Amino acid sequence: MPSPRYWREIPARFRLEAGRCPSCGKVVYPTRTLCPDCRTEGLEPVTLSRRGRVVTSTVIHVAPTEFQMEAPYAMALIETPEGARLMVQVADCDPGEIGPGTEVALEFRRIRREGHGGILCYGHKAVPVRPGTA
Ligand SMILES: [Zn+2]
Repeated sequence: MPSPRYWREIPARFRLEAGRCPSCGKVVYPTRTLCPDCRTEGLEPVTLSRRGRVVTSTVIHVAPTEFQMEAPYAMALIETPEGARLMVQVADCDPGEIGPGTEVALEFRRIRREGHGGILCYGHKAVPVRPGTA
């Protein structure tokens, strides 16, 4: 079963809702109670753009069992225009073409099935934005 943390974060995950610190301006996703940088409480909700740019990426060759069918694939740390950073899988691409600066769009996709019960987990994946397709 997904963890309690997973269920608690579902609404934020669906909406790509992050929090912006009213004190230092840091944007964190998913949002949380305290700013991780300056500990200020009461982050303001901010909905992220479904766009981002790759900061760093890595190619996964040996995947956890539930992702084995998809290996090799790229995992990337992306930054949205709001400044939030998310670690996401990059789909629909040759993992080798993903690198710092690659522009991506965030799409809501099925991530995996949980065990034999077949509970579907959804989340965001990034897909490269190629010139002419945006
Ligand atoms: Zn702060």
